[in-house]
Amino acid sequence: MNKVFADLPVTVFEAMSQAARDNNAINLGQGFPDDPGPEDIRRAAADATVNGYNQYPSMMGIPELRQAIAAHYGRWHKLSLDPMTEVMVTSGGTEALTSSILAVVEPGDEVVCFQPVYDSYLPIIRQAGGIPRLLRLEPPGWRLTEEMLASVFNEKTKAVLFNNPLNPAAVVYPREDLELLARYCQKFDTIAICDEVWEHVIFDGREHIPLITIPGMRDRTIKVGSAGKIFSLTGWKVGFVCAAPPLLRVAAKVHQFLTFTTAPNLQAAVAYGLGKPDEYFYDMRKDLARSRDRLTKGLESIGFPVLKSQGTYFLTVDLSPLGLNETDVEFCKRIVTDYKVAAIPVSAFYEQDAVTSVVRFCFSKKDETLDTALERLSDAV
Ligand code: GLN
Repeated sequence: MNKVFADLPVTVFEAMSQAARDNNAINLGQGFPDDPGPEDIRRAAADATVNGYNQYPSMMGIPELRQAIAAHYGRWHKLSLDPMTEVMVTSGGTEALTSSILAVVEPGDEVVCFQPVYDSYLPIIRQAGGIPRLLRLEPPGWRLTEEMLASVFNEKTKAVLFNNPLNPAAVVYPREDLELLARYCQKFDTIAICDEVWEHVIFDGREHIPLITIPGMRDRTIKVGSAGKIFSLTGWKVGFVCAAPPLLRVAAKVHQFLTFTTAPNLQAAVAYGLGKPDEYFYDMRKDLARSRDRLTKGLESIGFPVLKSQGTYFLTVDLSPLGLNETDVEFCKRIVTDYKVAAIPVSAFYEQDAVTSVVRFCFSKKDETLDTALERLSDAV
């Protein structure tokens, strides 16, 4: 059997969701909202289904969605994309990332990755014959430093995988860090694969800056997005890849044999959604920030030190000051069995030198769900 995959554990998200089901627990592990999602977008999908968007659409995505993606990024980031040669629709962000990695990485290539690292990146890099060069980000800031980039970038650095906003750390990177990374990409002729699926899920007036918009990065960045995250419809699995034509062309060759195409009815509904006015996206951020604040306050009043979430569906808690004498994994096992609340240990996002004292909780839930979870955790520390 294929060694890269044979020895892999089941992804931590599925494992914790299973533990939540087994223990009849509230699932604040895997990141998904527990409300049905925006009704008009769901209705647009229903209408598209009834009205005939049901056969194979074009491999690159339906033209109205590719145009909507280009228009959306033009409006939000002044990024000018040619919908026909620089935009591709995929079956979710994970497929977008896989298509991008397999398009770029060849045997022997080094690929810089930042830990905490999303769990789909490394197996795909290795399957392509790439050699991950892992850097270690740390709480509470999780910032990039020149020293860390200088320690791994070299002539063999084919690509860097960069997730911004960063899951699970819930950080939105400032321009300064992006410019630093961009400088190293240019110096070593490196392609950046930028996982920006959380681009709209940012709080407190923060701005998301796509790496592709940093000077010098337009032709060497592959930008990955996800409608599931933008519209809180995570099961839809509609993702996007945006890149200059020479990069996108190769990603498309991979995509054609991974999934070939993506459900056309859902694509039509996402095209409608991306055209919604700016207020829709700001309101979504405000609603999620309210849920973040509710869970933050509740956890703090129990005594958990919360690291403030700048974006994503997640906040993290640092267990180290609590003197619990248990790792994040032990803590998560204890709270799912004894308190019936599931969370994700952040050490699962490290392959070496793990940070073992931080736990991720998902707050994109109804108030009642968060309140019940908080009640259950009230004497967990
Ligand atoms: N991105 C989701 C999370 O971080 C998980 C998605 C998945 O389970 N594949 O919770």
